[in-house]
Amino acid sequence: MDGQRGQRVHPDRNDRVSRLTRIAAVPAAGLVALVAALLGAPCSAQRAVPRSLTGDSATLAAIASRYPRDRSDTLSTFPLHELAPGVYVVLGDTGRGVEGRPNAGFIVTSGGVVVVDALASPGEGRVLLRTIRSVTTRPVRYLFLTHHHPDHTFGAIVFTRLGARVIAHPDRRTLADINGDDQLASDWTGVMGLEQMRGFAFADTPNIPVTRDTALRLGGRRLDIIRPGPAHTAGDLMLWLPAERVLFAGDVLVEDGVSMMVDGNSTAMLGALARIDSLRPRVVVPGHGRLPNDATALVSATRCYVLGLRATMRHSVTDGVRMGQALDRLPPADRDRPVSLHSRLRRNAVRVYAEMEHALLSPAESAAALAGEARQRAACAP
Ligand SMILES: [Zn+2]
Repeated sequence: MDGQRGQRVHPDRNDRVSRLTRIAAVPAAGLVALVAALLGAPCSAQRAVPRSLTGDSATLAAIASRYPRDRSDTLSTFPLHELAPGVYVVLGDTGRGVEGRPNAGFIVTSGGVVVVDALASPGEGRVLLRTIRSVTTRPVRYLFLTHHHPDHTFGAIVFTRLGARVIAHPDRRTLADINGDDQLASDWTGVMGLEQMRGFAFADTPNIPVTRDTALRLGGRRLDIIRPGPAHTAGDLMLWLPAERVLFAGDVLVEDGVSMMVDGNSTAMLGALARIDSLRPRVVVPGHGRLPNDATALVSATRCYVLGLRATMRHSVTDGVRMGQALDRLPPADRDRPVSLHSRLRRNAVRVYAEMEHALLSPAESAAALAGEARQRAACAP
């Protein structure tokens, strides 16, 4: 049922959900030009993008790296691991950072199932659903989305057609959809292939919009929705199970690479990391990569990276070092791979340099805040 192209979804869903998007193959030359334009764009052009979005796009990453390595249409289920009774992580295509298939998850309660993220296409969503059905036949009541990048949301229609209600932040803006939803869907189809996208319609607009910390109770379980601020994207949320001490962190944490901030900002990222620490989680599920043996260590490493980048870029700005020169110290970006590790390091640096420029012009950073950052940074390995 969910695989039929052109099928209408529930009439009570809002415009975006019910509006069907025409899927079209994307000319390869157009994709290459798109990627090349972003990679090669001078920093001044990136700063001209509205709303401080300076160049992240899971779409572009996947376009460039031909995202599907293990074709989900050949898989019956994804690898599954039980984190606590009834709490599962569906393991992604680890080792490839943001270029790989993300992690997802689900929580089984007596009142139904809560799915955490929907993966990158209806094809992947169908495999995710089969993975859930290998454990339980209970109805999927809610789909929780950690953020609105397509690799985490384009399988959502599989679950909304079953009647699941979407819990997400209402701010869907990312650079990936800066040219509009139809273009995004078309671009992403170029990544995933028509077969994977069969039955696609946008379904990430929340039925239950969440903009601040919110507690959800279902079937005797408590699920805390945490709003960490715009760390990775404008619409970031995390899901915390206080009884089990399990956190689904979304792409605020990336185990097999570095967290990206180009659709968010580094100040919010530091706040999100502090929030994770305050929870003292037993298990954190990063958006990509393996489950870390030591959640605290992954948070610390991410914090040290962000603090180090901020300090370096702040010094560059203060010393009058131009952005291009500041970037010279980093390894070159990988051509046509905008979210490979080297490309990510570089693009995060562009973003943070711009933040530091802005901070210099509007001295919002207090001396106390700077001293606090320096103290935290002293705890990082050199
Ligand atoms: Zn992701």
